[in-house]
Amino acid sequence: MNIPDFTSVYWSISLTAFFFLIITGRYFLVAGTFYLAFYVWFPDKWANRKINKKPYKKGQLKTEVKWSLLSSVIFSVAGTITVILWQKDYTKVYTDPHLYGLWYLPASLIIFMLAHETYYYWIHRWMHIPSVYRVVHKIHHNSKIASPFTAFSFHPWEALLQAIFLPVMLMVLPMHYFVILLQLIIMTVSSVINHLDIEIYPKNSRNTFGKWVIGATHHSLHHKQFKYNFGLYFTFWDRLKKTEAPGFTDAMCGKGNTRKASLTIPDAPLDEFK
Ligand SMILES: [Zn+2]
Ligand SMILES: [Zn+2]
Repeated sequence: MNIPDFTSVYWSISLTAFFFLIITGRYFLVAGTFYLAFYVWFPDKWANRKINKKPYKKGQLKTEVKWSLLSSVIFSVAGTITVILWQKDYTKVYTDPHLYGLWYLPASLIIFMLAHETYYYWIHRWMHIPSVYRVVHKIHHNSKIASPFTAFSFHPWEALLQAIFLPVMLMVLPMHYFVILLQLIIMTVSSVINHLDIEIYPKNSRNTFGKWVIGATHHSLHHKQFKYNFGLYFTFWDRLKKTEAPGFTDAMCGKGNTRKASLTIPDAPLDEFK
């Protein structure tokens, strides 16, 4: 098969445009479906799982979509750079699923997610240093109450920090291209779930899965309080470094409904970070 030279201007721009369509399509499909299902079609069904009862600020969703489109441009460029690295043989991406054994397919996904968790937890804490926060992370936190469209709403600096992780990892960790695609889908769906502001994990998972895997309760508390709950997919770093919001276990595992429990946790002072 003849593969075009992706370093040429024509092919690098075409590939970036192609990635932009795929990435924005995925964003609108996942965030849009969750928004319609939880906020438009069946809001009553989820009313007692809604974490913040205040309405969204006027124009918030539109602003989030604008920042998300800009983030998607950066993710698309990162995608093209990844393909060029692959073409120049700098990555460990492979195509034969039997190359490392079938067991390695899920293993590589887990290794990637644990590494991603560690990377994100620590850069997220760094982004909350006030001088860094103002430049890099404030845009994301302008959404005091998260929505599905907050999922990609980042300042370009933050989008860049997020985008470089995949190509760098692919230079050191062998991954089948199918596992990479699956990881990209997981990343988008989990970001939308975490920003939904409606707890969708079943009640009977509160003491197991819901305790270790981040969902809306965990991340809404981060948007409310700033100084807790920095994790991405899993709670273990927050538990280990004692940065889990004091009210999280009650909100997630306590008696009563999630919203009532979450509302007992105060918002961060509004002037904490300006
Ligand atoms: Zn967030
Ligand atoms: Zn943050």
